[in-house]
Amino acid sequence: MKAFQLTRATSDAQAIATAAKSKTAQQGADVRFIAGGTTLLDLMKLQVEQPTTVVDINHLALDKVEATPDGGLTIGASVRNSDLAHHPLVKKNYPVLSEALLSGASAQLRNMATTAGNLLQRTRCLYFRATDLPCNKREPGSGCGAIGGANRSLAILGTSEKCIATNPSDMNVALAALEAVVHVRGAKGERAVPLADFHLLPGDTPERETVLEPGDLITHVTLPPPLPGSRSVYLKLRDRASYEFALASAAVVVAVVNGRITQARVALGGVGTKPWRSPEAESALTNQEPSPASFQKAAEAALRGAKPQSQNAFKIELAKRCLAHALQLATQPA
Ligand SMILES: Cc1cc2nc3c(=O)[nH]c(=O)nc-3n(C[C@H](O)[C@H](O)[C@H](O)COP(=O)(O)OP(=O)(O)OC[C@H]3O[C@@H](n4cnc5c(N)ncnc54)[C@H](O)[C@@H]3O)c2cc1C
Ligand code: SF4
Repeated sequence: MKAFQLTRATSDAQAIATAAKSKTAQQGADVRFIAGGTTLLDLMKLQVEQPTTVVDINHLALDKVEATPDGGLTIGASVRNSDLAHHPLVKKNYPVLSEALLSGASAQLRNMATTAGNLLQRTRCLYFRATDLPCNKREPGSGCGAIGGANRSLAILGTSEKCIATNPSDMNVALAALEAVVHVRGAKGERAVPLADFHLLPGDTPERETVLEPGDLITHVTLPPPLPGSRSVYLKLRDRASYEFALASAAVVVAVVNGRITQARVALGGVGTKPWRSPEAESALTNQEPSPASFQKAAEAALRGAKPQSQNAFKIELAKRCLAHALQLATQPA
């Protein structure tokens, strides 16, 4: 690991002012916030990330989970994944989020990992993590080793000719289905970014993964009130039952009234270059009876735009089955 300066932030303003000096908020940033460190330190050891200054934000007051007056939830950026997963309001009103968090990593990692760190975790593409291999995301213009190379675990939705890396987070998939909003404080003030707009498609600039600018500090995430009468499920399919990233996953929130689906929120993980909300699946489900046929139609709609690579065509069928089964679990009689 290269030498770096570690500073402890004593206020949001100080953290933002320090990080705002960075040339970029993303790849190659010379100033980085550190929260749990489970992504950043890993990448610094691999020399994929080489910040010269690391700002410890663990002492900022960003660690609260609170109900909002409208019945929603505010989640502080530094709330640990384990605390969030076991919070009574999350278990009661947003079980899909609790299930997604508990399906990720290990108990020890979840005790360290934070909400904002999880939102910003980086791809597990092996070319990205090895500095001697070509990777447009790590080193723009160097090529994409995964296209035509080892791409079994990579994306089939939202890919570009420059990058096919999967967003690896489980939490992000649940947040997409819950229509979360990310709150950011930066050098130019505060703003609220819907999760759907927070992560960027790779396009020609895969090194740019989110809308964050230099100095932007995520302060909290909000969730709207739960859909009335809804049930939710997170289903994750992977090579082994624990300590593994998703090959395909589905987060679904479904309300059924008088035998018809009145509202549906659907997001997929393990298959998209960003947490993949599927309006197509949601429209296919709305006003339908919950049945294997309607679930299959929704799954077909969600994967219609899939573009497989040399090793990951199996993900199309896997993701369809994953989504159909999650919908069945969310709508079966209690
Ligand atoms: C072995 C292993 C297995 C894993 N398995 C899974 C899995 O199955 N599923 C899954 O979803 N995840 C998995 N993870 C990833 C894990 O969830 C993330 O590493 C973790 O959530 C990152 O959180 P952190 O607080 O440690 O982030 P850090 O490493 O501290 O930070 C990550 C990034 O976020 C930035 N950042 C942090 N806080 C803020 C803030 N408030 N504002 C702006 N920027 C900020 C940092 O600058 C850095 O760029 C795994 C990780 C490991 C090491
Ligand atoms: S898929 Fe993206 S992260 Fe992986 S090698 Fe290609 S450019 Fe790099």
